[in-house]
Amino acid sequence: MIKSDFHIHSNFSSDCETPMEDMINQAIKLGLKTLCFTDHMDYDYPEEYEYSFVFDIDKYLDKLELMKEKYHSQIEILRGIELGLQNHVIDSMTNLINSHSFDFIIGSIHLVDKMDPYYPHYWEEKTEEEGILRCFHTIKEACEIYQGFHVCGHIDYIVRYAPSSKVKYHEYDYHYYQDVIDEILKTLIKHEKGIEINTSGYKYGLGHPHPKTEVLKRYKELGGEIITIGSDAHKPEHLAYNFQHAGELLKSLGYDYHTVFKKGKPIMIKLD
Ligand SMILES: [Zn+2]
Ligand SMILES: [Zn+2]
Repeated sequence: MIKSDFHIHSNFSSDCETPMEDMINQAIKLGLKTLCFTDHMDYDYPEEYEYSFVFDIDKYLDKLELMKEKYHSQIEILRGIELGLQNHVIDSMTNLINSHSFDFIIGSIHLVDKMDPYYPHYWEEKTEEEGILRCFHTIKEACEIYQGFHVCGHIDYIVRYAPSSKVKYHEYDYHYYQDVIDEILKTLIKHEKGIEINTSGYKYGLGHPHPKTEVLKRYKELGGEIITIGSDAHKPEHLAYNFQHAGELLKSLGYDYHTVFKKGKPIMIKLD
């Protein structure tokens, strides 16, 4: 059984209302041994969306420290963050990670050309394929330029916001995007960065995690070994969502280990 969740949110993220303690109590109930909070830090998230994904980092780390002490006999709490990668905010991201210590950093693309693909206007004046391709190219460029993270978050999650996914999930054709996905994976491997298996895809009824099976398979074929497992839960009921399935999927693809991070160092855990 996978006993750690390495991608979860709390009310430090502006799209999440769950207090840390609610997540922790649920994790204890589920028998998890380790919980790594990874709240959203997206510098220069466009004002037009009326959200801010920048929060008070010192308050966050203080709160995590308190939680760590309070629950230390029941569960291990780790200091993580989900950094929203954009090339023009590299200085802010670098300052943040140089001035604070994190156990684990996810680098995620939430904005493409300063637009959030969650909103319909991103998809105007482009085909779905163009919109998805543009996102993959953005991830590739971001990973080439910046490496201040440990794993690249939810690589193909943009597909769930493609307009046709509102009717039925847009089952994207991996082969159509394979070249750019290969470049993303090779760049990550070259810089000793990992990927995550993000089980929120199951929650959306996709039948697979992010990224989907072909990408997980390809990462391994190319020599990738670092793979963390996270639910991306914003609510307690989604903690460790479908982890059993994710573990079985990894084993079926020939993975023997999944990875956890402590103090920025990868630790390989055997899949049972
Ligand atoms: Zn994310
Ligand atoms: Zn997330």
